[in-house]
Amino acid sequence: MSLSLDALRSAFAIRGHARASRAEIVSFRDRQLRKLVRHAYHAVPYYRALWDEHGVHPDCIRGAADMPLLPTVTKTHFREAPEIERVAAGLDPELLIPAASSGSSGRPFMIRRSWLEQNVLHLPRVRALRSYGIKGTDRALNILNPKHAHARDNKIIGRTLVALKLQTQQKRVSIHLDPEAIAAEVRAYRPAMLSGYPNMLARVSGVLQREPVRPPSIRVALTGAEALTPDLRRKIEARLGVPVRDQYGSNECNLMAWECSHGGPLHTSDDTVLVEVVGADGVPVAPGEIGEVVVTALHTFTMPLIRFRIGDVAEQGSGVCECGAPFGTIRGVQGRMLDMFPLPDGRVIHPYWLSESLIMDDPDWIENFQLTQERIDRVMMRIVPRAEPTSERLATLRAHGVELLGAGVDFELLIVDSIPSELSGKFRPARSHVTSSYDDIVVPALRAPVPS
Ligand SMILES: [Zn+2]
Repeated sequence: MSLSLDALRSAFAIRGHARASRAEIVSFRDRQLRKLVRHAYHAVPYYRALWDEHGVHPDCIRGAADMPLLPTVTKTHFREAPEIERVAAGLDPELLIPAASSGSSGRPFMIRRSWLEQNVLHLPRVRALRSYGIKGTDRALNILNPKHAHARDNKIIGRTLVALKLQTQQKRVSIHLDPEAIAAEVRAYRPAMLSGYPNMLARVSGVLQREPVRPPSIRVALTGAEALTPDLRRKIEARLGVPVRDQYGSNECNLMAWECSHGGPLHTSDDTVLVEVVGADGVPVAPGEIGEVVVTALHTFTMPLIRFRIGDVAEQGSGVCECGAPFGTIRGVQGRMLDMFPLPDGRVIHPYWLSESLIMDDPDWIENFQLTQERIDRVMMRIVPRAEPTSERLATLRAHGVELLGAGVDFELLIVDSIPSELSGKFRPARSHVTSSYDDIVVPALRAPVPS
């Protein structure tokens, strides 16, 4: 019961935080972290065993700065423990709301939340829309992978907010429809905000450019769930004539960061999730450096996620955004760790580095592409062209790819009519089928003394 009261109190605090000072948010976050870590140690057998093994006691954690004392946790490690050891003592996992990950790592992953936790997690999305000037009287259309809502997830808080015109009215359209059919839905609904996966939004906006919404209604396009490349952003902005704002979310934590309303860095949702960008030692890297994203869900007490390696890499941003918003920042979330390409010469490259190098000089002839690493020594690039490429252009591209990948890697170029999406509906611009050594626990370099 006290957990429910806490969640309600948190919900009210989060609603007021858009105008709070940085100090207020930091103090709220650190208080929440202390509460969460103590709770996890005393009520969740999984964390107690893990932290005892690493010799850390929850009393050592006073705030975000102390979190590197705790080990990071991978999906594999977390999933290997029985579910009953990962939920708080006394809770029946079957009575909680399940949230399955989309399986973009190829391995489905299930977490569970209480009804109230599920609803609290929705609030940062409302706040992000507000920052883009989208209010409760506006309509939003989301192009997404349809999921069946769980029977216990009645979304009553969200529905009440919509009824009170405190939250945008939302329409969902399936990504499994073709772009023409989706565009027809957009024209009929006339939303102020259009959101979707970047690749899908680029295709739909191509149709809307030919047959626009009349009179114009869209003021902002929101992207998420897959990486927004500079090329995709440019295409969507040019076709719709509105700014694109990117969001970074996950099934585990809902919205974790949203792009500054002035464009540029992403504001981290510091009062709902601790987003750490860490190096191999599990300690946060300096601003401007690239690291792995490690998250702690601040309001999830039923099945806590503490220093959870979510599988993405990002660039550490500045502590506070230049726009004056009271949130920290990250930049350029670079997609799944699993899809880094390990090469025979020992390099592990990010496929976007490869694709940007290969096509950014002259991207306009390419409608769509996909890089697949089939074996450590074989990378395939499929391209859907807008116009038939000359043999000279293809030869240049092939030579450039061979040069980037280095000796011993077979680089094949295929011109195709279409590239199928994953079963989940997400389009993966880069995919590696080479096993990675990613799923290991990182033991922090720092060790706190065990209080006696
Ligand atoms: Zn900002």
